Amino acid sequence: MATIGLIGGMSWESTAVYYRKINEIVRDRRGGLHSADILMHSLDFDRIVTMQKAGRWDDAARCLASAGDGLARAGADCVLICTNTMHLVADEVQQGIGVPLLNIIDVTGRALANAGMKRPLLLATRYTMEHPFYRDRMRARFGIEPLVPDEADRKTVHDVIFDELCCGTVRDSSRDAYKAVIRKAEAAGADCVILGCTEICLLIGPEDTRLPVFDSTTLHALAAVDFSERVAAATVAA
Ligand code: GLU
Repeated sequence: MATIGLIGGMSWESTAVYYRKINEIVRDRRGGLHSADILMHSLDFDRIVTMQKAGRWDDAARCLASAGDGLARAGADCVLICTNTMHLVADEVQQGIGVPLLNIIDVTGRALANAGMKRPLLLATRYTMEHPFYRDRMRARFGIEPLVPDEADRKTVHDVIFDELCCGTVRDSSRDAYKAVIRKAEAAGADCVILGCTEICLLIGPEDTRLPVFDSTTLHALAAVDFSERVAAATVAA
């Protein structure tokens, strides 16, 4: 296995899910006492949120690129930014590090395309739903056009992420609110749901809707293990 680098802490609630999922996938595939080779730089989320609120994306890019560079220098063979939102600066981060950055939008888009999905509902932070970086990349690379909730529902979805899920709180009332947003999108023609924020899997799962659910955290974790197995296999073959 090659070494997986995680830029985490955004929030640590979801980074803990990455850590568990990556190790579970490795145990399922390799059995016994096998686990993943992981390096992590977990950032203070409050610092990142301050930059997000102020629109200081250049500062955030520098901060994440420095973390990614540190992971690569410490021996990571790939780097994951463990949040969809911060993929707003993914290209800048990739330029600052010498190993591949596994982009969560590409990983999710590939899964949707392979499943023949065309019109996903995107549930995510305001930044991901409203800035063009996510939907533009999905459209350009996969020809997929995500739907986003209306303004009031975007606020609900965003506030639940920051006020509850990132703080370790999971409320049934918020699950019901999300389910109502999903039902509206289904009536408007959505063919699946993207959990496009790495904490949403703590609240919503396939059991909460009739639509297929694509969880960005799980897909990203799988992509990390796939990558690390490919690198290991290429090293053995060489
Ligand atoms: N983890 C979340 C995401 O996937 C939100 C936290 C953040 O703003 O980075 O977008």
